[in-house]
Amino acid sequence: MQENVKLYQPQVEAMTTTKEWGVRITEMMIVAHTSLLVFFFMLGVYPMVAVNTLSLAAYFSGFFLIRKNAGIYMEVLVSEVLIHATLAIVFVGWSCGFQFYAFSMIPAVFFADHTIRNDGQPTAHPMLFSAIVIVDFWFCRFIGYFAHPIYEVRSEIAFWTSTFNGTMILLMLLLFSTVYVRRILEIENELVTNAEFDELTKLPNRHYLDRLLDENQIGMAGGIEEFSIAILDIDNFKKVNDRFGHLAGDQVLKKLAGILARAANDNEDVFAARWGGEEFMLLATGNGAYDKMIELTEEVRRELERSVVHFDYWQIVVTASIGVSGTERPRNFKEMTEEADKCLYEAKGSGKNKVIGAKERKPA
Ligand code: GH3
Ligand code: MG
Ligand code: MG
Repeated sequence: MQENVKLYQPQVEAMTTTKEWGVRITEMMIVAHTSLLVFFFMLGVYPMVAVNTLSLAAYFSGFFLIRKNAGIYMEVLVSEVLIHATLAIVFVGWSCGFQFYAFSMIPAVFFADHTIRNDGQPTAHPMLFSAIVIVDFWFCRFIGYFAHPIYEVRSEIAFWTSTFNGTMILLMLLLFSTVYVRRILEIENELVTNAEFDELTKLPNRHYLDRLLDENQIGMAGGIEEFSIAILDIDNFKKVNDRFGHLAGDQVLKKLAGILARAANDNEDVFAARWGGEEFMLLATGNGAYDKMIELTEEVRRELERSVVHFDYWQIVVTASIGVSGTERPRNFKEMTEEADKCLYEAKGSGKNKVIGAKERKPA
């Protein structure tokens, strides 16, 4: 089955880390503050030129700080934005739109807090900083309304400046939203992988099979001619655990899982999964699926019998009993597993370490 190819490859992309987005934001801030520095210089608002120089110094230190303590860097960043915006309103007034920057700070600090905690660093205090943002906004609002700006700015310049500032803030919100959604998708992906793949053997588990069956990607759907299921159960596995310990038992499970994973990888129409406990499942589709399954499980059985699991100074050899069911007409998965289970039971009852199968032929 095509799924095999995907199964044994990592399913999750590299994570978005604090460092990654931190460096990106820092670069953006440096570009923005360099433009603002030039802008204030051209307007002759020299105190704001000095403020921007200090801001640039803060952001250059950010490249270092983001690695050391991202929470503190986030606090530096929020403080810088608030102080910068407040001073800009004091010097050039409300009409230049520097208050817009407050609006990006709340999502930014919540986003930062999430990734920073995920990276195992101390919190960025999103609630506290949000409260500070709101209080600062009120403060700016009052200054903007009741106090005259120190520098008089022509209304045309105020128009272009507030348009630029508003656009910057919208772009920042866009960036945060995009990165945040990507991050959520990655986490979802990771959770699904953890839920559908067995930690010990790395094989897909029963949840994965259930989903494939729900989505009709396996079974008789899509005009598949033949379908076969094998259930493999390790013989006397309890004794392995009792005698050599649970960890040794785990190594035995890994050994059989390895054999099955290889069988699935080598055969395009075969799929392997851990059915639960010490039971595994193989599925095969396509013309001659049942005969192929009997042949393949016989090979697996022989290979397991020959394999030695080394654990401490022990050499452990186990066998498995295998029940196979096959069908040429549409039948549901539950019936097929029950039939394979019956064959497995027969194999166990007649001396173990064997393959027993039953096939339902197409009605003549
Ligand atoms: P039979 O030949 O009839 O299959 O006998 P058995 O001892 O293999 O069968 P039984 O079902 O009685 O025992 C299965 C054992 O598998 C019991 C359980 O402790 C063990 N087991 C299930 N999952 C794990 C696991 O993940 N690791 C280990 N080490 N043991 C497991
Ligand atoms: Mg069992
Ligand atoms: Mg068993």
